[in-house]
Amino acid sequence: MVSIKDFLLKVVNLFCPITCSVCGSELHPLSQTRICTECKELLPLIRGFTCQKCGAPLSYDVGFCYTCKKYYKEYSFEKMRSVYLYTGSLRKLILKFKYSNRYFLSKDFGLAMYETIKLYGFCNNVDFIIPVPLNIIRRIRRGYNQAELLASVVSVKTNIPMLKNILFRKKITKPQFNLSRTDRMANIKDSFFVKNDKIIKDKVILLIDDIVTTFSTVLTCSLALKTSGAQKVYVLALARD
Ligand SMILES: [Zn+2]
Ligand SMILES: [Zn+2]
Repeated sequence: MVSIKDFLLKVVNLFCPITCSVCGSELHPLSQTRICTECKELLPLIRGFTCQKCGAPLSYDVGFCYTCKKYYKEYSFEKMRSVYLYTGSLRKLILKFKYSNRYFLSKDFGLAMYETIKLYGFCNNVDFIIPVPLNIIRRIRRGYNQAELLASVVSVKTNIPMLKNILFRKKITKPQFNLSRTDRMANIKDSFFVKNDKIIKDKVILLIDDIVTTFSTVLTCSLALKTSGAQKVYVLALARD
């Protein structure tokens, strides 16, 4: 026999179904996730051997990737880890998350980031979580900062406080896409600044971003935090190239 609760849920679902954000199949009306089990299993999780510094996937256990072997001394962060590779269905999903108001995906994504922290245990002594900020104009236009949504889920799960009023972004005039790696670095340099630096003095920070491609953003943010007194900066990203 169908209970009244089940009946009402079916009615609600008829008018306002909850669907998988990847394949569109219908999910249970009380579902906490917005990605069905089948689609979740197909997402490109980073597993196996990874670079000890930046977390890039490696074919063999050789310690560091090519880039880190060459440049790791210049890095302003201690270590970086990412949950997924930025490819295929995941890429489409993140674009929906960022640009199509699918902010509710932050729960699925934030939990996956928390699982990654547990898996690598690479930031056990973190004092504060700080999301990579958007500049104010983009923040207003989009209505939310996707890195901040992810950071707040991780903050709740880890019990590490999140600081929103420390790291800020200046307005970047030139658009980032179509620029070479060097030009991007030059464009983004000095584009972040820190306020209320006393709070982060000698503290260990976990910086959270959604996608890491050239490292330029996370390197510049880490540098701004370190020169403002932070002891160490770790980076956790949802996805990377
Ligand atoms: Zn699905
Ligand atoms: Zn590396």
